[in-house]
Amino acid sequence: MRKDKEQITIKFLALFGSDRGQNFISGQSLAKRAGISRSAVWKHICRLRKYGYEIDSIRGLGYRLVNDTQAPVPWKLQERLKNCTVANEIVYMESAISTQITALSIANKRPEANGVVVIAEKQTGGRGRLKRKWLSPEGGLWLSILLRPRIAMPSITVVPFVAALAVRDAIEEETGLDTRLKWPNDVMISGRKVAGILLDVSAEADSINYAVFGIGINANLDASALIPRIPDSQGVTSLRSELGHNVNRLELTVSILEKLEYYLNLLTAEGKYVIISTWKKHADMLGRKITIMQVNEAAKKGIAIDVDADGSLIVEVQPGGNIKVNSGDISVRY
Ligand code: ADP
Repeated sequence: MRKDKEQITIKFLALFGSDRGQNFISGQSLAKRAGISRSAVWKHICRLRKYGYEIDSIRGLGYRLVNDTQAPVPWKLQERLKNCTVANEIVYMESAISTQITALSIANKRPEANGVVVIAEKQTGGRGRLKRKWLSPEGGLWLSILLRPRIAMPSITVVPFVAALAVRDAIEEETGLDTRLKWPNDVMISGRKVAGILLDVSAEADSINYAVFGIGINANLDASALIPRIPDSQGVTSLRSELGHNVNRLELTVSILEKLEYYLNLLTAEGKYVIISTWKKHADMLGRKITIMQVNEAAKKGIAIDVDADGSLIVEVQPGGNIKVNSGDISVRY
């Protein structure tokens, strides 16, 4: 959103804020106090409604703010996440090709940028791992977080687990739903995918240059609208389909970012064991028959035995014969 428009939006909210839900403010008064024309007032009211604010308008009386937004708008996130190091800057877009592409381009253009959260109300070219398509209609929560974490190289393989735990915990906190994790970082409800995570890392010999976490959550949309568009799907669900009502996407975003900060701080040489063991507690795949699919290789079947301290999946492909699978270009199906 353009900064000047955002400034007027914030001004309007301040004007409404002082007597929210009680008095109407006339269009004339809003225009005068915000320093804009009467017709511009109407445009801003429409914009606020689009951002999820509920505003009454009555001819002759003016406008009244009835309900606050539950959308992850930047001014709310900034207010809520003042001390959160993973959210120093919020970039909010009504539509993006892909928040991941935007965040990666910020990473490359601005070497100092750290803790940049890019959020879009919809993505027109969202992607999953291996350039797979990720459907991202309005109502979902689509965000990418650019970080330059100081993580020692040996711990880098544990980073995907950090993101999965942050999303899992946040969903549980906001909805009470019991989510399960699928290696390495899909978040599932009753075997159906509710959220996907994508990680792009740029690393030097012994340190991380940057990491961009892409998080997609099927929040306030109906799974039935996605299913016909995902023919190869292993099952898809959404928070709204599970709960029967919408979730507060603002609170969900705050929670994800706070938990991401928490788990990243935990990612030390010793802490990574805690991360992997916590991940295993929430996983639903250990002991199950799985198929491992890798580009240009025949699918392998086996039993998921364990996840080791580096995050590799140990699979028994024949009695007594285990293989170690690293994440990256591998997909797992039950
Ligand atoms: P995988 O689950 O095979 O490891 P990814 O994590 O890369 O794959 O996610 C991409 C896949 O997720 C797509 O090929 C498609 O099957 C599925 N998909 C696409 N959009 C959504 C969505 N909004 N919700 C759930 N699954 C989706």
